[in-house]
Amino acid sequence: MKKDYPRNGATAQRQSLIETFAVFAALRRCVRTLLLTLIVFASFGVAFPQTKPTRAHASMSPEATALVEQAIAIVCTQAKLDPQSSVAIDEMQARPSLPVQSPEARAGAERAQRLLPVAKQLVISSLRQLSTDYGFQKSRRFNLRLRDAIARVNSVQRVRPDMDSRDNASVYLNRPHVITFGTIFLSGLRSDEGMISVLAHELMHIADGGNDSLRALVGAIGNRVSDLTGLDIHGQRGEEVVCDLVGAMAVRAYIVSTPDYQSVTRRLARSVQHNCVELDEGDEDHLSPRNTIRALLALNPGLVRELINDRF
Ligand SMILES: [Zn+2]
Repeated sequence: MKKDYPRNGATAQRQSLIETFAVFAALRRCVRTLLLTLIVFASFGVAFPQTKPTRAHASMSPEATALVEQAIAIVCTQAKLDPQSSVAIDEMQARPSLPVQSPEARAGAERAQRLLPVAKQLVISSLRQLSTDYGFQKSRRFNLRLRDAIARVNSVQRVRPDMDSRDNASVYLNRPHVITFGTIFLSGLRSDEGMISVLAHELMHIADGGNDSLRALVGAIGNRVSDLTGLDIHGQRGEEVVCDLVGAMAVRAYIVSTPDYQSVTRRLARSVQHNCVELDEGDEDHLSPRNTIRALLALNPGLVRELINDRF
C-alpha cells in the first residue's frame, strides 16, 4: 500500500515536506478527544449536537435488553473495584501528557509489545469465526480477501509509543506494520486483557486495510447490531463496532486459554470497561462509549451470560 486516502472523516492528513503534492495517510483515530470540543461548545453557549440515535426499532426482547443492562452495570462496577481495571477514556482525556520514558508509559509499551504476537493470532481466529458465523465461509471472493487480511495482520511488527497521541491508538495505513499508541492510553490499560482488546481493535483496522476489504462482513455485522439495538451503526461506526467486537472476542479466547485465580467476570470486564465513561457522547464515526458496550453485548449474548454468571 503506497498511498492511502482519508475517508469518512476518521482520518488525519500528513503532508510530505519534500513532495509537492499532499500525501494523505489514513488515520484511524480510535478513541475520541471529545472533552475539549465539549468545553469549547459549552464556553460559547452552543448546544452540542445531539448524536444519540433513537432506539425505536430495537428488535431485541425486553428480557435480553435487561440482561445487557445488567451486564453493563457489572462491567462498570468492576471498573471501580478492580485494581487492574482500564481507565475510562473520558478520564484519560483529562490527564496530562505522559513522556515516553515515564515508568508507566514504558510498562504499558512493554505490555503491548509482549502481547502483540498473541493478539495477532487471536484476531485471526476471531476473524475466521466471524466469517463462519455470518455465512461467508463459502464465498471464494471473501476468502481471498480474508487471506490478504490475515497476511496484513501477520505483518504487524511493532507498537510505537507516542506522547502526542495521548489517549488514542492509531494505525496509519501507509505504515501498516506499526500501531501508534498514545502514552496515556498505554498507561491506562492496566491489564493484559485491556491491552489485548485495544491491540485487537487496531489489528482489525489493519485487516480491513485501506480498501475496506472486509466490508461485506463489517456491513453484515453492522446491519445485525443496528437491527438488535435500534442504533444507527453503519459506515465508519460499523467498522469501529466490529473492531471492538473482535477485541472482545480476542480477550475472551485469551482468558479461556490462560485460566488463573481471578474471576472470569473481572477479566472479561476489562475488554470493554474503558468505555465506562461519565461523559457519554458519540460522534459521526463512533457510537458513544456506553452505547459501544451496549452494541457489543447485544451482538454477544454468550458474553452477557458469562459476565453475569462469572463462569464460561
Ligand atoms: Zn478504531
